[in-house]
Amino acid sequence: MIALEASVEDHGGVAAQVLVLGGGFGGLFSAVAVSRWLRGRARVVLVDRNDFFLFTPLLYDVVTGRLRPHHVARPLRRLLSRSVEFVQAGVEEVDLYQHRVRTDRGPLSYDFLVLALGSVPNFYGVPGAEEHALRFKWLPDALRLRQCVLDRVTRGPGEAVRVVVVGAGCTGVELSVGLHDWVRRLGRARLSVLEAMPQLLCPMDPRLMRATVRALRSRDIEVRLGTVVEEVRAEAVVVRSGGARELVPADLVVWTAGVQANPLVRQLPVELGPGGRVLVTSTLQLPSFPEVLSLGDVAACPDQAGVYLPATAQVAVQQAAAAARALVALVEGRTPQAFRYRRKGEVLGLGRMGAVAEAFGVRLVGLPAWLVASLVHLVRLPDWGDRAAVAWEWAKDAVGLGRPASREDEP
Ligand SMILES: Cc1cc2nc3c(=O)[nH]c(=O)nc-3n(C[C@H](O)[C@H](O)[C@H](O)COP(=O)(O)OP(=O)(O)OC[C@H]3O[C@@H](n4cnc5c(N)ncnc54)[C@H](O)[C@@H]3O)c2cc1C
Repeated sequence: MIALEASVEDHGGVAAQVLVLGGGFGGLFSAVAVSRWLRGRARVVLVDRNDFFLFTPLLYDVVTGRLRPHHVARPLRRLLSRSVEFVQAGVEEVDLYQHRVRTDRGPLSYDFLVLALGSVPNFYGVPGAEEHALRFKWLPDALRLRQCVLDRVTRGPGEAVRVVVVGAGCTGVELSVGLHDWVRRLGRARLSVLEAMPQLLCPMDPRLMRATVRALRSRDIEVRLGTVVEEVRAEAVVVRSGGARELVPADLVVWTAGVQANPLVRQLPVELGPGGRVLVTSTLQLPSFPEVLSLGDVAACPDQAGVYLPATAQVAVQQAAAAARALVALVEGRTPQAFRYRRKGEVLGLGRMGAVAEAFGVRLVGLPAWLVASLVHLVRLPDWGDRAAVAWEWAKDAVGLGRPASREDEP
């Protein structure tokens, strides 16, 4: 058992034990808010297998070397206020009936639980995808992808390296442009983006989507919409497009085609929605376990129109504040209020000084959009030190003083 385990009866005199599983966008921000609002009235414990918070929106900058790993992976202990206890442990099982969580460092108990364990890549059962495609979800994935590209591109003059990105959502598009602009400085590469749907999967105005396709094609990035990946092999991808089957040669395949809920929730006695996500009520509670809230990528939460919210940081951060308010209400014996999602807009980075952005009905393309996108990312970074460090790296890069394209990451 880990030292800080507290039973439901023994909280050192405070009213309730709140256990938050997952220190990502949903878990971190809800733990910080609830500890502030319930100061002295609850013991808040946050559990994550990593000791850092990962700022995923800038992960592609780590692949291209524009940022270093420590710019996007920030120590959780530093970000948490002193009123949140942090336990670095892997969650193995959640017993909703006994109010207990089994971790690889021992059990923990709770009065109120926040399930914010995020998602994992969804390979949709495509043969060979898990085995041959590179993931782009966590920090080690970004470092591995960077190394694989460096290994192949800097092998010497010869054939262009063929990189296939599967999935043209925001992540796939930003990564493709970033990869293209970086690799162009190293050697020759041929980039293709494959998407099963007939359009890019970024939730933006169609005009901005057309501008994005133009930005990709102007870089000679091949964009193949309506192209379903049927199999991934060691050096090729088998696709179906317009009824015909085709072999697309690929030295590297990167999978950004979607996510599914953390598989840990499959063992829970609860109803799961699309993508294996936990169905929650409008107050983010589990219908049969009102003392448990779930949010972020792991939760299937409908909006006001009954449509499930997308798995984005924007949703998770808004839900985190709502979950913290709901916890305060529950501790005080009140009924939590329904969560209302407010879409604030979207930004999509398209390389150095390029982007498309949409907020409050205003659409921007190019440099103005890039300024807005950069500002949005800086504001969303968790603290001022990070903002200053990232802004400094970007400024150096903008005037050509960034890291050399091929420098390897220091340990
Ligand atoms: C490359 C990339 C770029 C993205 N860009 C954007 C963007 O620009 N804008 C946007 O809105 N969204 C973006 N997203 C989506 C966004 O990252 C997620 O929607 C968001 O992180 C969800 O927050 P969360 O708290 O649900 O999960 P996460 O932030 O993933 O946090 C889950 C946490 O749970 C921990 N965990 C998981 N399993 C266990 C376990 N068994 N034991 C202990 N801890 C565990 C993990 O370590 C992690 O810290 C991007 C995602 C990726 C991968």
